[in-house]
Amino acid sequence: MQLEGWGRYPRVDAELIEPATAQALIKLLDESKEQSTLIARGAGRSYGDSSLNAQVLSSRFLDSFSSFHEESAKIRCHSGVTIDELLKVSIPKGLFPAVVPGTKQVSIGGAIAADIHGKNHHRDGSFCDHVESLTLALADGEIKTCSAKKNKELFHASCGGMGLTGVILDATLVLEKVPSVFIRSQAIATHNLAHTIEQLETLNDNKFVVAWIDCLARGEALGRGIVHTGEYAEDAPMEYVRRWGPSVPFSTPSLMLNRYSMSWFNNLYYWLYNRPSNVDLDSYDSFFFPLDSIKHWNRLYGRKGFLQYQFLLPEDSAQQGMQAVLERVADAGKGSFLAVLKKFGAANENLLSFPGPGLTLTLDFKYESSLFPLLEELDEVVIDHGGRHYLAKDARLSAETFKAGYPNWPRFKAVKDKVDPQQRFSSLQSQRIGLTSAAEDKPA
Ligand SMILES: Cc1cc2nc3c(=O)[nH]c(=O)nc-3n(C[C@H](O)[C@H](O)[C@H](O)COP(=O)(O)OP(=O)(O)OC[C@H]3O[C@@H](n4cnc5c(N)ncnc54)[C@H](O)[C@@H]3O)c2cc1C
Repeated sequence: MQLEGWGRYPRVDAELIEPATAQALIKLLDESKEQSTLIARGAGRSYGDSSLNAQVLSSRFLDSFSSFHEESAKIRCHSGVTIDELLKVSIPKGLFPAVVPGTKQVSIGGAIAADIHGKNHHRDGSFCDHVESLTLALADGEIKTCSAKKNKELFHASCGGMGLTGVILDATLVLEKVPSVFIRSQAIATHNLAHTIEQLETLNDNKFVVAWIDCLARGEALGRGIVHTGEYAEDAPMEYVRRWGPSVPFSTPSLMLNRYSMSWFNNLYYWLYNRPSNVDLDSYDSFFFPLDSIKHWNRLYGRKGFLQYQFLLPEDSAQQGMQAVLERVADAGKGSFLAVLKKFGAANENLLSFPGPGLTLTLDFKYESSLFPLLEELDEVVIDHGGRHYLAKDARLSAETFKAGYPNWPRFKAVKDKVDPQQRFSSLQSQRIGLTSAAEDKPA
């Protein structure tokens, strides 16, 4: 079958194996030791080729809960459970995951493997900072439980390890007690990049802070945007009735996405929020997961798909580097509907986790061959400013660029080689960025 990530680039022929239980998955690993490489896949919401290979092992049917302890806010579930499914169980108890991404359609296994971040990284860290322990099936079918105390090295390699150490079978998560499932939010318009960054810093005490950037604005207005902040509302209900939104039934012609339509959209968004009083009460769905309201929105980018480009720049070079990136994007006229700027907090001990102190910017670009030279130029800017790229969004980074951004990669590789000497767990991405060898070079 043809398999792809959320960006729909690249698209590859793959065999999708969907074990019905954790036991079946372990048996399969044990019995197929001599066979080709494979990679785990959760909900397929990473954008590029992190969960692609000729053989893909799906966690789709590992979707049950094992225990829920309300007092300690701990829940144990299998790795194929999605955040959406978790919310259905946790909200009635007044509990919410401590970190959620921009879609609730990700699996717990995928959230751990990418050590995902949310709008509250500066306050609460990333997803794996709230994982008490996890169970991993290694390449030979052996099961290991690990945590920040037990099998510590394996834990810090697997959290953010993009599925390369083994298949996460289940995890115990520590949830957060919340007063309601509504967010009191505020939107503040900014005039340019310096003003946007200043507002992100000033508002950093809020629980949730993120900025949208008009990436087609130029000159004096370069980097203008809307900073959104939020706190859980104390005086709102614990329940909320979900509404179903529209769906994009098929790929729209990508010609509709051009410099003019993007510029129109960016101007409209800025204009909508550029008013004096901008305080709202948002449901958790509209605050955290606005894109989920349009099913299959990735089809809007046309049949060839799109690439998401997310990078991090350290604090001292962030403003200068962001300015250089935004200038190049505006000059190329290859704007993005969704340009999101966020200030991260401290890094954790996970060897390949993306977040660290500094600013991260996310840009979407529709697939076109003329995009690739621009992205290579941006890679150079990011690396020259001491930054790195987010693997969960990547479909094209070179091994050199990846390694320059992740100084801990040799430590990660040492753990990987110890637990998976035959390099059974391998993705198209890990081969491209030099973490595993290509299928034909695999050790005998
Ligand atoms: C609309 C949208 C918004 C997003 N917003 C954010 C955001 O705000 N912050 C953020 O950090 N990310 C964000 N993401 C990215 C997303 O959170 C990550 O890509 C996440 O890893 C997707 O989880 P998944 O279950 O879909 O995993 P997949 O895409 O299926 O796999 C991703 C990686 O996880 C590995 N993996 C999956 N399951 C397992 C398992 N059981 N055991 C071992 N490895 C496994 C795969 O091998 C692969 O390397 C967003 C994605 C979308 C589509």
